[in-house]
Amino acid sequence: MSETKTAAGCAVADQRKFSDFPASSPVAEKLASGKLGFDPDELRAKYAFERDKRIRPEGRGQYQEMTGNLDVFVDDPFVKQGLERDAVQRDVEVLIVGGGFGGLLGGAHLREAGVKDICIIEKGGDFGGTWYWNRYPGAQCDVESYLYLPLLEKLGYMPKEKYSFGPEILEHSLAIAKEYNLYDGALLETGVTDMSWDEGIQRWVVKTDRGDVLKARFISLATGILAKPKLPKIAGITDFKGHIFHTSRWDFDYTKGDTSGNLTGLNDKRVGIIGTGPTALQCIPHLGADSKELFVFQRTPSAIDVRGNHPTNPRWVDSLQPGWQARRMENFNVITNGGYQAEDLVNDGWTDLFRGLVGAEGKTEEQKKMTAEEKDAIKEIAHFQKMEEVRARVDAIVVDKDTAENLKAYYRPFCKRPCFHDDYLKTFNRPSVTLVDTDGKGVEVITEKGVVIAGVEYELDCLIVATGFETGEGFTSASGFEINGRDGSKLSEKWADGPATMHGMFSHGFPNCFFMGLFQTGLTVSLPHTLNEQAEHIAYVVEQCNERELGVLEVSEERQKDWGATIRSKAHNNEEFFNTCTPGYYNNEGKGGVNGHNFLTNQYGGGPIEFFEILKNWREEGGLQGLEVS
Ligand code: NDP
Repeated sequence: MSETKTAAGCAVADQRKFSDFPASSPVAEKLASGKLGFDPDELRAKYAFERDKRIRPEGRGQYQEMTGNLDVFVDDPFVKQGLERDAVQRDVEVLIVGGGFGGLLGGAHLREAGVKDICIIEKGGDFGGTWYWNRYPGAQCDVESYLYLPLLEKLGYMPKEKYSFGPEILEHSLAIAKEYNLYDGALLETGVTDMSWDEGIQRWVVKTDRGDVLKARFISLATGILAKPKLPKIAGITDFKGHIFHTSRWDFDYTKGDTSGNLTGLNDKRVGIIGTGPTALQCIPHLGADSKELFVFQRTPSAIDVRGNHPTNPRWVDSLQPGWQARRMENFNVITNGGYQAEDLVNDGWTDLFRGLVGAEGKTEEQKKMTAEEKDAIKEIAHFQKMEEVRARVDAIVVDKDTAENLKAYYRPFCKRPCFHDDYLKTFNRPSVTLVDTDGKGVEVITEKGVVIAGVEYELDCLIVATGFETGEGFTSASGFEINGRDGSKLSEKWADGPATMHGMFSHGFPNCFFMGLFQTGLTVSLPHTLNEQAEHIAYVVEQCNERELGVLEVSEERQKDWGATIRSKAHNNEEFFNTCTPGYYNNEGKGGVNGHNFLTNQYGGGPIEFFEILKNWREEGGLQGLEVS
């Protein structure tokens, strides 16, 4: 099949035009039905045009780390009085890095496996991870609370609403830490600086920025994803004389109010926000309500569907039977992986999206008989239909026609994270709110006074940067410290081209070390589901070591190669799809799967259900297969 190159140089197979399918084809029948209300060939061309406008030759290089004079952007604004303590020197059985859901679930499962001596090291002033840092007004989880919040039955807690806001999730995180005594021995407000395997003592020696030196039998790395905020390299970003901060370090001293809004400090301020991703769209309604004037600088619009939050129904709660949360998680996971469930227990925007679009090309007997090309075309039409619905929603809500037009997303669903919100679009009907669309270019110049777009300077008192988090730079860049394994081998060098593991958790040369994260693993829409499975698996391995009195475990090179081969052979056939997408961190900023560290590269292509089954079978076989004991 012939190919075309996108503006970023990615190969996209030339597709037959919809109008060229023969009259007997189901594709032509769909077109002839006259019910579509759009021309799919035109939309396909429009999507490619919008994508190409946004491709930047420098790809991920358009962003910069917040180091040097930018490090003020990552200071912790939530710790009012810095902790003072003496350096700690001690031995520990399991040292966990990261106090977010990964670390908390790791700690919880290890406690249940009988591990008493756990030390969690966390940079933030408390547990909570993402929910510790992201306290911006409106912060909410877009996955249903009843399945997203871990260990609800164990803690006897029921979320107040179908979609929890940040403070409730943070509270729940702290409750997990208390329930499992994870504050015992924890080192908060502490960053790991270095981690080295000492063959002589068969321990990991872990150093921190507070001078601590810990010797750990096992380490578990739960350093998170989307945890390191990033800034765009915009000319003049450090020249701005007004107030500036990143959404993950919200400055409530300046804005006043809290996560629920009431930002009275902005009542007399001209505020600008750069970015219109999932974070921005949650805080923009509050900024719109409370700022004297708000300017939203947009490069790519988000596709925003209905949220439909509501308080938890006590009658429904009374009807729940033990084990309900695991069943709900399973039900959601099956549906969001294109599988069938007699009942959709969650029944929300996510499940609607997946029920309608994943496998949209092959559900009926008639569809199963179609050629691969016809199936792809039918699926693409279903994608167009969904996005037309989302675009129609903009017209129904936003009064000003030009603004509405600029708020419409022209790319396929799943090219960017689907978004759900009921107040975002309405905000643009406020006279004090202006959408400044940059026609795909983004903000390129910041001055002492504000932001310049197309030669117009927007003077601002406050500029909020909602430009997301580092992805694709590798594990040690994201975690911020090197891991020196057996024979002094550095993880950053060993994984220079991408992670090498068995099951995403064990890596050759790094004994008694567990990785939690989103590489070479089964990715779930509700991330704590994946983390929970990983945590359970790690706890099982530690328990086995203790029961069988095993000293040091290390995955064999051979088994690691086998897993790498499995990952490659099962690789999603999604590269082609992402090459057609508008740039973002899902597709390496439009540059495709050339980067082994990219967010969606290197997943287990068989999906999370199959992956969890592999882990379960491995445990049931009982032999710690692939792990060499020394
Ligand atoms: P994103 O990376 O998703 O969005 C960054 C935004 O900044 C994009 O709109 C991007 O535009 C824009 N941007 C970057 N550079 C420029 C520039 N120079 N000029 C103008 N705009 C620019 O970050 P978020 O913080 O919004 O979200 C990160 C992730 O966090 C989400 O994808 C999601 O996984 C998670 N999240 C989850 C939530 C939940 O409910 N579970 C809620 C919030 C976040 P462009 O699109 O053109 O690159």
